Amino acid sequence: MKVLVLGGDGFCGWPTSLHLSAQGHEVKIVDNLSRRFIDTILEVESLTPISSIGRRVAAWKEISGAEITFDNLDIAQEYDAFVALLKSFKPDAVVHFAEQRAAPYSMKNPKAKRYTVDNNVNGTHNLLCALVEAKIDAHVAHLGTMGVYGYGWSGSAPIPEGYLPVKVNTPEGEITREILHPANPGSVYHLTKTLDQLMFAFYAKNDGIRVTDLHQGIVWGTQTPETGKDERLINRFDYDGDYGTVLNRFLMQAAYGHPLTVHGTGGQTRAFIHIRDTVKCIEIALNNPPEKGEKPAIFNQVTETFRVRDLAKLIGDMTNTEVMYMENPRNEAEENELIVENSQFLSLGLEPTTLSTGLLEEIQEIASKYKDRADRTKILATSKWKS
Ligand code: NAD
Repeated sequence: MKVLVLGGDGFCGWPTSLHLSAQGHEVKIVDNLSRRFIDTILEVESLTPISSIGRRVAAWKEISGAEITFDNLDIAQEYDAFVALLKSFKPDAVVHFAEQRAAPYSMKNPKAKRYTVDNNVNGTHNLLCALVEAKIDAHVAHLGTMGVYGYGWSGSAPIPEGYLPVKVNTPEGEITREILHPANPGSVYHLTKTLDQLMFAFYAKNDGIRVTDLHQGIVWGTQTPETGKDERLINRFDYDGDYGTVLNRFLMQAAYGHPLTVHGTGGQTRAFIHIRDTVKCIEIALNNPPEKGEKPAIFNQVTETFRVRDLAKLIGDMTNTEVMYMENPRNEAEENELIVENSQFLSLGLEPTTLSTGLLEEIQEIASKYKDRADRTKILATSKWKS
């Protein structure tokens, strides 16, 4: 397959590009390197020493013999160049990672909120519009998030894979309709992902674009078999208060012997997946595209759920570190249940890496090994949801 990876220089995009290339696919990365630029503005760097994109693809060629090409292009701003690129590369599939992906960053200030909407909504729409204009029948696999469902539903009804059967009373009696699960975003970033869903539904119906939307949990872990082959291929590890996930914050705090900072009661339940499983799920999705004219296929790309305080306890016990509770800067339910249906990927052969088996590698091979590269002042979250 010819695969275009939008956002292929990022945390999920780089290991996915390598994995697809290792499977024999022809891969082209498109990225405007905005993630690296945001690091410059935030005065922080990946904990792991990531190489430039030019050095990365050259190292991959040297090690694997396979070529990954790279185009520096902004999919939200450079529409004509994007159409021209689609016409010349003629992808069979497009994997779309190219969005501003941090909820705290999206809530930082009005500039960051507006950038997140302009970049994410425009980028997704440009992709769909450009595929129609260029007459390219490529399958689009998009990285969405579990956050589109929201974490504030009461009760313990399982979260379905995208669609919800709803009973409606009509004069002729009760009928069942299948609708997109109601969206309940918790940040401007999540809001953009809920808007993405509507754009996919419209372009699938109107233009027959084949879309798979992967509602992904928090991705943890750093290395995949391919990124681990050489330090020039190493994946990024974000630990700062804007881009670092709760798990990475705990890992860094444990590496320094600082108490693990839990927001609020720590009763928030979140879904997780290892980066090695993310890349496999994307490959599985690409091998199982929906038919033309079908509604977007939606998979919950999640392998386990954890309450934040239980995650803190797990890492605290493994590293002998205390847990500390602090005020929650987010506007979110203090406690929530999260039961997620994820049978589609498991039935297609996914064998997940779990937190209890994979965390030690992160503690030893990443957090402890590179901790001296970190700026400790950047670990705590500073974005507040309400001023
Ligand atoms: P990332 O920020 O590391 O990577 C995104 C990449 O896209 C970056 O390299 C960035 O430079 C590029 N990009 C952004 N806007 C662009 C544009 N307009 N044109 C071209 N390139 C652009 O993020 P990530 O963690 O790899 O996440 C990838 C996708 O997966 C995102 O859409 C995110 O919402 C989704 N996701 C990630 C997680 C996670 O835990 N990391 C969880 C759920 C969903």
